[in-house]
Amino acid sequence: MCGIAGAYGVPNASYVVSLMLKALQHRGQEAAGIVSAQKGALHEHRGFGLVDEVFSKIDLAARLPGDTAVGHLRYATCGDSNDPKSIQPLVASLRRGDVAIAHNGNLTNYPAMRRELEERGAIFQSGSDTELFLHLLARAPGPERPLAERLASACLQAEGAFSLLVLAPDALIAVVDPLGFRPLSFARYGDGWLFASETNAFDKLKARPATPVQPGEMVVLRGGAPSATPTAYAAPRPVRRQCSFEHIYFTRPDSEIFGVRAGAVRRRLGELLAARAPVHAGIVISVPDSSNKIAAAYAAALGLPFEFGLVKNHYAGRTFITPEQPARELGVRMKLNVDRDVVEGKVVTVVDDSLVRGTTARKIVELLRDAGAREVHLRIGSPPVVHPCFWGIDTPRRTELIASDATPAAIAALLGADSLEYLPIYALREALGDPAGASYCTTCFTGTPPDDRPIPASSLVRRPA
Ligand code: SF4
Repeated sequence: MCGIAGAYGVPNASYVVSLMLKALQHRGQEAAGIVSAQKGALHEHRGFGLVDEVFSKIDLAARLPGDTAVGHLRYATCGDSNDPKSIQPLVASLRRGDVAIAHNGNLTNYPAMRRELEERGAIFQSGSDTELFLHLLARAPGPERPLAERLASACLQAEGAFSLLVLAPDALIAVVDPLGFRPLSFARYGDGWLFASETNAFDKLKARPATPVQPGEMVVLRGGAPSATPTAYAAPRPVRRQCSFEHIYFTRPDSEIFGVRAGAVRRRLGELLAARAPVHAGIVISVPDSSNKIAAAYAAALGLPFEFGLVKNHYAGRTFITPEQPARELGVRMKLNVDRDVVEGKVVTVVDDSLVRGTTARKIVELLRDAGAREVHLRIGSPPVVHPCFWGIDTPRRTELIASDATPAAIAALLGADSLEYLPIYALREALGDPAGASYCTTCFTGTPPDDRPIPASSLVRRPA
């Protein structure tokens, strides 16, 4: 998972993009980059760290001039997270001019296509699957054809998850893959247009209304004051595979993705969890911030007090998107502390949004018991995660998933909790407004591939451990 943002026809576009990247910071904290376009040339700046760390010491107007720009926040699910060449947007000089590309998602045919292209003489500069688009663009037939047509040809060869912002000196193009795994929306802003992974990036700028780019669509902006009209570049598919985990965990609750408010989905998850797995005693606490809405709705549905028993250090970062396990373990301790007055002597139900590796949950149970909680019950607002994700979420090994081969009772014992219950898959689909399972990907909960095609083993895309 990464964050992408773009601005077209907007004064000081790089500054506006930096503001949107700050709003999307929760989507990636390893690195950030912006590329702008002015007078037929691209200007770029990237670095490791948070948006503020990368951009606060540079003069954006001087270094990244122009009224069009794209930006990227990196959360490495492919390639080496320490490789500066993998920090996006990636830039290449093609025969018809320079292009920059910002990509959210993972390409499942990247290893096979990279091998094939290398055998034909291609030289890859990074370990990032995003670079595949640059090679496919360079080799797209008819180099005299417009960029949008060559990009469509490249996108039809790529498989997997991709929401893209592609910048040329005279154009900005937004694309979403035919199954629509990752969110991307656009909104009017003054005389120009903004693009972002989540709509909270538009809110501070008062850019409205937000419109999702639909699966298999492309929005091409070129020339003065263009209208943003999506066009289909791929044949419609009978199903969509929008990532359900975006709604459960990644997306901010004040954002709209896939045309739906994430906060509303989380409230419904809490209500359904209360109906399916109630604890009729004590207090309910959340694991801040991502499960706040689910926990509050769970408590309200059961008429129990909702308390803030865990206090989060907001400067410690998110543990799940910290790539290495020792850092993740330390991250939990740095991130959460218990308010003893709230939990001492109480029956405490901890509502979390998901249980992936169990790192955070194990530590939380330990912290609550140390603070004197009488009982600790875990309630999870999503089904057990039993399968790796191949489309941009960093849970690639089954052995890392605590629920891959253990029952809830066994997991509760492992975590030291008095009980553990999950939301069933049918309830997740109900909360998403997708009872037939035709719109959302749930592969990590079911193991069922997204479009009835088997997932090739070679599609496992992972940076070195
Ligand atoms: S497998 Fe899970 S995390 Fe990956 S895209 Fe599907 S729903 Fe999202």
